[in-house]
Amino acid sequence: MQEGTTLARHTKAGGRRAFTAPHTSSGKRSHRAECDRKPVSGRVAAVVVAAGALATGVGATGGLDTGDARFLPVGASSDLAAALVHTSAPREAEVRTVHAVEPAFEAAKLMRSEGLFVRQHVDQAIRRASDGYAARQAELKRQQEAAAAEQARIDAENARIADEQARIAEQQAAERAAAEAASRPKVAKPAEGSFTSGFGARWGTTHYGVDIANSIGTPILSAMDGVVVESGPASGFGLWVRVQHDDGTITIYGHINESLVSAGQRVNAGQQIATMGNRGQSTGPHLHFEVWVNGSQKIDPVGWLGERGISL
Ligand SMILES: [Zn+2]
Repeated sequence: MQEGTTLARHTKAGGRRAFTAPHTSSGKRSHRAECDRKPVSGRVAAVVVAAGALATGVGATGGLDTGDARFLPVGASSDLAAALVHTSAPREAEVRTVHAVEPAFEAAKLMRSEGLFVRQHVDQAIRRASDGYAARQAELKRQQEAAAAEQARIDAENARIADEQARIAEQQAAERAAAEAASRPKVAKPAEGSFTSGFGARWGTTHYGVDIANSIGTPILSAMDGVVVESGPASGFGLWVRVQHDDGTITIYGHINESLVSAGQRVNAGQQIATMGNRGQSTGPHLHFEVWVNGSQKIDPVGWLGERGISL
């Protein structure tokens, strides 16, 4: 350590430690109070000074003799202590404080307490940040769960409403269908036209139906609700359609020009199933209409229709 480069030194003076500073040319020392030194400000600066001072002290245990005076390199420790004191104490007080204590010990204490203080603050800040983050995450999770629960409730409510609407629509459809069925005729006149021949003996044989004459193409309607059991050619009738009604009764429509239905098809009373024709053993365009009960027992259609409100 050379004069002129040393920031400060201290030696024994009257049994008391005193700070000295090197004279730049003569080597004579001029005593200066610590407060004359260039002030060190800020804790960061203090720590830097402390680190340098300790490094200096390690390599010069027991002090250094630079000629006419014995300087203690640990004076750097007092620099450190002084620098640290600068951070919180008035200048006069720091002088007194530094002179009254063991600098290295005080420096170590200061460093330790300072370190602990910083460490505590860092730990506290980390803990607060961590706690805050956890709290925010918990709150966010709670909000998300609440939102999800609310959405689930809304979905369930919407599903319930949709089910209710579907049930109402289904009920309304059923009611409409029932109303339509109720408004539909139960029995219909098979065709409009002239009643030209009745049931019974005719021309030396038996006529098993009634004849209704009209022009070719006149609509032929199913007498009641039922299912088509046959649609096509038939001996003597040219083409025919047979419909079995819900009570088992079968009605026959013969000499038709064209069938509009097919076997297995469901038809309603009054629904057009064919057009009037002149096919088979026919003497002119007309509908030959028969009613079979108990399978194949042919009865007078006039009576059967009359019982159901239809007159020919
Ligand atoms: Zn006939």
